Amino acid sequence: GNEARVQAVHTITNRELMPPKAPARLEDIWAENVFDLPKMKASLPKAVFKSIKNTIVTGQTLDPSAADAVATAMRDWAMSKGALYYAHVFYPMTNLTAEKHDGFISVQGDGTVISEFSGKVLVQGEPDGSSFPNGGIRDTFEARGYTGWDVTSPAYIMDTDNGSTLCIPTVFVSWTGEALDKKVPLLRSISAMGKAAKKVLNLLGHTDVAPVNSSCGAEQEYFLVDANFVSQRPDLMLAGRTLFGKSPAKGQEFDDHYFGAIPERVQVFMQDVETTLYKLGIPAKTRHNEVAPGQFEIAPFFEAANVASDHQQLLMTVLRHTAKKHGFTCLLHEKPFAGINGSGKHVNWSVGNATQGNLLDPGDSPHDNAQFLVFCGAVIRGVHKYGPLMRAAIATASNDHRLGANEAPPAIMSVYLGSQLEEVFEQIKTGTVKESTQKGVMDLGVDVLPHLTKDAGDRNRTSPFAFTGNRFEFRAVGSSQSVSGPLIVLNTMLADSLEWVGNRLESELGKGLDLNTAIVTVLKEVMEEHGAVIFGGNGYSEEWHKMAVEERGLSNLPTTADALPMLKTDEVADLFKKTGVLTPVELESRFEVYAEQYILSIEVESKLVISMAETMIYPAAVEYLSKLSSTITSLSGLGINFEKATAQTIADLAGSLVEATAELKAALKHHDFATTEDHMTYCAKTIRPLMDKVRGVADALEGHIADSFWPLPTYQEMLFIK
Ligand code: ADP
Ligand code: MG
Repeated sequence: GNEARVQAVHTITNRELMPPKAPARLEDIWAENVFDLPKMKASLPKAVFKSIKNTIVTGQTLDPSAADAVATAMRDWAMSKGALYYAHVFYPMTNLTAEKHDGFISVQGDGTVISEFSGKVLVQGEPDGSSFPNGGIRDTFEARGYTGWDVTSPAYIMDTDNGSTLCIPTVFVSWTGEALDKKVPLLRSISAMGKAAKKVLNLLGHTDVAPVNSSCGAEQEYFLVDANFVSQRPDLMLAGRTLFGKSPAKGQEFDDHYFGAIPERVQVFMQDVETTLYKLGIPAKTRHNEVAPGQFEIAPFFEAANVASDHQQLLMTVLRHTAKKHGFTCLLHEKPFAGINGSGKHVNWSVGNATQGNLLDPGDSPHDNAQFLVFCGAVIRGVHKYGPLMRAAIATASNDHRLGANEAPPAIMSVYLGSQLEEVFEQIKTGTVKESTQKGVMDLGVDVLPHLTKDAGDRNRTSPFAFTGNRFEFRAVGSSQSVSGPLIVLNTMLADSLEWVGNRLESELGKGLDLNTAIVTVLKEVMEEHGAVIFGGNGYSEEWHKMAVEERGLSNLPTTADALPMLKTDEVADLFKKTGVLTPVELESRFEVYAEQYILSIEVESKLVISMAETMIYPAAVEYLSKLSSTITSLSGLGINFEKATAQTIADLAGSLVEATAELKAALKHHDFATTEDHMTYCAKTIRPLMDKVRGVADALEGHIADSFWPLPTYQEMLFIK
């Protein structure tokens, strides 16, 4: 029956609002829990501070002689804030954040204790790596790796109910030197891109070129559902999404939710999240309602990719923890509710440095424009060449539900430039620029570029990868994913493209061409070879899906089973090898880990589908059927002829439910697969449709069974009651 549901609604609607805390002054709390440069400066000897600051700026390894002093200062600061433990925080290949906690406590020979934290412990830890997937890199008998502080990402204090802990962002590497995490390749991709960018900037005439880094600002979408409902939904608790549930009558047609008033309880929650983030030095900036009811977004201001990535992981943790405190469950899944908008994580990405600024900003002078076009052209080439890799980087079982569905980007990678910029590139290709001095050559020496407006109106929401004025926005990224994977791919493909552009420019200049002509020649070549990836139309449309594949030769990779094998192509292996971002062994291990996770996630969900169908939904059908049939029988005893159609429908559906469940069960027994690819395909093509079949029947039952007999909180309740 639905007693528990009724109780939940009662509890939620009668709950007392958590009083909002008086907002603190930002200046008072900003980075309060971060051991940042100002705190180091205040607590370290001058020479040590200089050494560590240099390390942070240049990304070089920390001078061991400085490590002890830094460790001591860090420990003293952490203990003054009540921390008794420290943790090396690392980012395994699972999209999650992992940590190993250790006490500062050190027991002395005489039984007394002191707090200890040496430089050695700061720069190197030894988590028990055996429980983290490594894709076969390490033999289990030496299943250990080590973690080491990434000095470019500051240590911080994490406050939880179990006290506060000093957290140290670290890399996670095997003893044989292979990357076991997402941070190592991200750092490598930044340095590869930076190297190639420097070469291009030199060719463009810059002699003073500061290190080029990439920036990332991630917009995080999420759903909030009251915890009282979640506790009655095994699917939400274990899979993070609903495996059953009929769409509500009142659904998304109510677009006034978007940017509408944020419910008070949610507002109090958001404020709490923001305060915590500010203390952690995370620049939360915008918050608003999203398209779907119960869906929200938070977007911090952009930061250097490496720090942004760590902060993004931290932000997801903070969202989950804080939601719990406020009686919510925060769902980061890409598609918690079928038929309702999914959640993405728009990854805003740009590259730049201190001397030339943002290299994806068109700028105001002709020279800036030319430079911008070169970098933009390199991105276009990258997306065309490595689109399938971009798709693979965002391939998860959960994101498969979102891509290509309700108002979400398609699984075909293309670039949206905006009409103005698209026209400029088109003109470069055809050599039809009106102002050109020579036929077919656009003179970049005069300001022929139209002033590119950064108007948000010229935005195409249907593109998976869009230029938005001074950055690209990768919109196909899933809400639960680490941004590292996508950033690694973007930086690496740009490194490759810039390397190519640099070589081509060099060769054209070597032939005696002037810089402008050389640039136009190279960009023309980019457009001829790779222009097919530019698309400004409706990415959701049928026509595009057809045209992209048939006329443009782009790949449509609808499922993870289609996308992940792209990691095994020679082209991708070469890309990572020549840029030094991933060795073939590291790449192979990633394929294995991601494939394993995909398969596991579908198997776990399937089992849940079966158990919920058998133990919750079927019993509800039988109970209601028994009620109906006894009514029919007793009425007929009174000589009243009662309609039997409803009972028949429910009986039929219950029968179909049993059949569909049995089919899924049988399908799950199949275990012999020649290759991992075969197993993934089986999950995508056989298991998933069977799960959908069970769900289809169950959702139909939900439409026929009396509400008072239905055991699961409904979509309507979960989405609208707060
Ligand atoms: P939207 O209109 O797409 O919802 P938001 O303002 O919500 O835009 O988010 C845009 C994100 O892009 C923010 O995180 C912002 O800091 C980030 N951003 C802005 N400029 C850049 C840039 N040059 N490089 C990277 N990210 C940027
Ligand atoms: Mg956006």
